[in-house]
Parts: sequence; C-alpha cells; structure tokens
Amino acid sequence: MPQLDELYREVVLDHYRHPRGHEPVESPNFCSEGFNPTCGDQVRLAVALDEGRIDELEVRCQGCSISVASGSMMAELLRGRTEAEVLELAVQFKSMMHGKPIAPEVELGDLEALQGVAKFPVRIKCALLAWTTLQEALERLRAEREKGAAGPMAV
Ligand code: ZN
Repeated sequence: MPQLDELYREVVLDHYRHPRGHEPVESPNFCSEGFNPTCGDQVRLAVALDEGRIDELEVRCQGCSISVASGSMMAELLRGRTEAEVLELAVQFKSMMHGKPIAPEVELGDLEALQGVAKFPVRIKCALLAWTTLQEALERLRAEREKGAAGPMAV
C-alpha cells in the first residue's frame, strides 16, 4: 500500500519537524533521561502528575526522525491519562512494534504511523526509547511509593 506508506511518512516527518511536548514543565513530579546507544538517540522527560493523571508532559528527544517523532506522539497521546492507562498504552505500543496486532479498543493515534518500523529491527529501539524511559520512571515511582507506604508500618 504505497499511498498509506506515504501518508505515514508524512505523519512521522511532521512530528519530527514540529515536535509536540516542548513546553517546559515548571514543577515536575519526576524527570527521567534515556539513551539508545545503537543509534545515539537521547530523550529527557519531565512529568507533572495531578491525582494520578499526567497533567503536563515535557518530552525532548535528540536523535533520528523515528525517536523524535515517537516522543512527540507520546507527548500528544498521554496528556490527561492515568498512570495505569500510560502503562497499558506502552504495552500495546511495544507489542505493535514487535509486529503483533493491537487490541481493537486501543487508540494509538499517530503512533500507528510507526507500524512500518516493526520491519526494521534496529530501529525498534528508536521508536521505543521515549516510552521505555517513561515506563521505567513510572515503575520506579511506584516502587518508591510502595516503599514509602511500607516504611511507617515497619517502624
Ligand atoms: Zn534512532
């Protein structure tokens, strides 16, 4: 489907040229950085949460078009989502990038334009960089909370 490929390419290039999520987050709950040594892509995230939802999300990627576009799409897709929704979307996006079908009820928005990347194994890490970085940060946050909750009980 050359026409579809062309459309997808346009979507990816648009995010690459005009990345979303560049507005600085004034008082983030957490920041995180990620690096993809295979390609040299770097990402920096700042996240402000409000009652378990992503209130503000700053995503700054430096690297190839796929990593930048994926981070930009992530910034657009995740605002207002709960942590559980974010982790679920990350799982779905990852399985899409490994060539598996996405559950029909899942809306990945512009990320679907990255579907073709699944055919290029070396680029999959580029597409996943921002997501993996966010996912790991959320998991660390969760672990810290659990430790915090267990702390007083242990005393
Ligand atoms: Zn890359």
